[in-house]
Amino acid sequence: SKNILNVNDLKVYYKTLKGYVKALDGISFKVNEKEILGVAGESGCGKTTLGHSLILLKKPMKYISGEANLLNKDLMKLNAKEMNKTRFKDISIIPQAAMDSFSPTKKIKDFIKDLVEEHGIKADENFFEKVKKRFKMVNLSLDVLNRYSIELSGGMKQRVILVISTLLDPKLLIADEITSALDVSSQKFVAKMLSNFRDEKIVDSIIFITHDLSILYQIADKIMIMYAGHIAEIASSEDIIFNPKHPYTKALISSLPKIGTRFENEKLDGIEGTPPNLLNFGNGCRFRFRCPYAFDKCEKEAPPKTIISNDHEVYCWLNVGDKNE
Ligand code: SF4
Repeated sequence: SKNILNVNDLKVYYKTLKGYVKALDGISFKVNEKEILGVAGESGCGKTTLGHSLILLKKPMKYISGEANLLNKDLMKLNAKEMNKTRFKDISIIPQAAMDSFSPTKKIKDFIKDLVEEHGIKADENFFEKVKKRFKMVNLSLDVLNRYSIELSGGMKQRVILVISTLLDPKLLIADEITSALDVSSQKFVAKMLSNFRDEKIVDSIIFITHDLSILYQIADKIMIMYAGHIAEIASSEDIIFNPKHPYTKALISSLPKIGTRFENEKLDGIEGTPPNLLNFGNGCRFRFRCPYAFDKCEKEAPPKTIISNDHEVYCWLNVGDKNE
């Protein structure tokens, strides 16, 4: 199917007093039409930086090199004016803690009106017809429009945000930790709504960022596991959960209730330690400080990409064999 996003060797750093923090250090992946790509990893792995750099909220990040092509447009090369045109229309984000962005003194309908008019879109009657249709799709009653955010539950607010961020039918929607503040049943509902939006072609594809692998297994077609600013493994959700190749992926899976128990006899019971300091982790594999399988080579050189099968890629020396590119 058609390729919507093509990220190639993207590097995005943060400048700090001590030097550059390599938040994204050369990552490459693709998102196809109709696909939901889940991005998972611990905090500090670069998943939020990824969402922010694609939506061009670059400050205080520093774009270093690489490409992020949304269809034929390299997002990294757009100037401020072009960015404003692209955001919301072609690529849209539901940021972390978006639910807190509602003003307590505005009715939901006025909040929507002000927000879209800031983006140069006229919030007339026609526009609100569309809003109402989408409200019905996500099971929100229309009187929510006349309410204040304080009167809405977290799940309702999240659905309002989902409607707002997709009103212009963006090609790519980025959802950043949007389910973490919700209870389990609201999480499931929001995940279901997102896949409905994809099925109804309101959005072409979705990048779903979370630390919660079990929700990804329900919603994502593909999962990308990130570690310390780099990709550890990308594969179909099935393969990530049932045929993981990277020790870090295995460790994450082994901590999942139910599914994780089959790794009980491996050395992976919970990974000790924390991600490395992104300022300086030397040349080797980033996971070597915590990896129970690390060997000499892992100290010296970062593992290259190994293709396991169609759509399954892993970066770990244990997997480097004949199939290596
Ligand atoms: Fe562990 Fe080495 Fe593989 Fe890195 S390359 S994950 S340190 S075995």
